[in-house]
Amino acid sequence: MVKLMLFSKFFAPTSKDIPSDAKIASHRLMIRAGMISKTASGIYCWLPLAVRVLEKIEKIICEEQEKIGANKVFFSTIQPAELWIESGRYDAYGKEMLRITDRKNGQFLYSPTNEEQATDIFRKYIKSYKELPTILYQIHWKFRDEIRPRFGVMRGREFLMKDGYSFALDYNDAKEIYKKIFKSYIKTFRRMGLTPIPVQADSGAIGGNMSHEFQILANTGESTLYFDKKVLTANEEELMTVFAVTDEKYNSKTSPLSEEALQISKGIEVGHIFYFGKKYSEAMNAFVLGEKGEKIYPEMGSYGIGVSRLIAAIIEAFHDERGIIWPEAVAPFDITILNLHTKNEKCCDIANKVYEFLSKQKEILYDDREISVGEKLCDADLIGIPWQIIIGQKKASQNIIELKNRSTSEITELNLDKLIERFSK
Ligand code: ATP
Ligand code: MG
Repeated sequence: MVKLMLFSKFFAPTSKDIPSDAKIASHRLMIRAGMISKTASGIYCWLPLAVRVLEKIEKIICEEQEKIGANKVFFSTIQPAELWIESGRYDAYGKEMLRITDRKNGQFLYSPTNEEQATDIFRKYIKSYKELPTILYQIHWKFRDEIRPRFGVMRGREFLMKDGYSFALDYNDAKEIYKKIFKSYIKTFRRMGLTPIPVQADSGAIGGNMSHEFQILANTGESTLYFDKKVLTANEEELMTVFAVTDEKYNSKTSPLSEEALQISKGIEVGHIFYFGKKYSEAMNAFVLGEKGEKIYPEMGSYGIGVSRLIAAIIEAFHDERGIIWPEAVAPFDITILNLHTKNEKCCDIANKVYEFLSKQKEILYDDREISVGEKLCDADLIGIPWQIIIGQKKASQNIIELKNRSTSEITELNLDKLIERFSK
């Protein structure tokens, strides 16, 4: 039997106060719902409700990564400067890198990304062409000393990222891996209830157009997207070629789209993938031996998802004036039971029964707090758990329970059996 998840014992410090720096809905709602607490500019502590959502998101990502044969690792968050000097990026990375000196005057840094480390692990252990292709990934904290951290966890300095690195024998294999990961990203975001728009991005010197950013539509996004409306309904294969770019690349004179097909919207970048060939493998002398004993420098790519930014992006996409509306797949709980009268025996009896039956299959937050009915209902809408089971003394005396859908606000009246049946499907 699952431990009873009582709100009175659950640490979710909801509040009505909105910090003055909270300019967008997701930031305000994450603070008000007691999900995050600011430590310093762009640095946050994650509280239980947010941790539960992070875990749901991570689980979806890991399941999809496993399907494409990616290996999960944890690179260390602290790296020696030498690795970055080897790749030639140490100075170039500039002030975004948090540089650290240890007691022996050793030069270190807190990972802003992990291409060098992935390449280092690869060269230490992978020696034969037979072991390729290889994909390593992790979900781990990063630090980038952003010049303008803002919008809460949307652009933080410390943030959680899924970063993956692929190693392939040749360009064709690298392209296949890239496509496989592209499709897997679409699936990943769609499983979270989102509509990802893959935009063709610039990956710098090498790689042609083998770079895509995955954007989520939201008015508060930092990017402006120009895309073919087909993007919204295309399948994973079609999405690789449907026209979508950011304003930096858009040119109305050369646009392939008719006026009817074109949509212009703001977007939030939640993922970024790119192919960059032998840049790191050559610089860091990472190679395998081929069939005839020749040295082969693998073709690499890297693949990022902004895990902590995703929470904010999901809230931007799914909220109303009362609070968050979690898509079921990433909701911190499936159901919340609101016992409106915790001193009423009948209400408690029904609430306990509902909990006992439904907690076998669902994750439930049981609001047993002794607070006003108004506060309880407001908090439930704020926190945004998809289903609210509302038990008030008047209806309870007639054995009626209310089931409210947070997304549509629709309320259905049911008895206990019907309610259990509803969630047993
Ligand atoms: P941006 O243009 O937003 O700075 P980026 O190009 O620097 O992003 P990548 O290095 O490709 O980002 O990182 C992969 C993903 O990590 C991004 O798509 C984004 O979702 C997320 N991310 C990057 N920087 C931050 C940040 N400061 N705070 C939160 N998430 C971030
Ligand atoms: Mg950046």
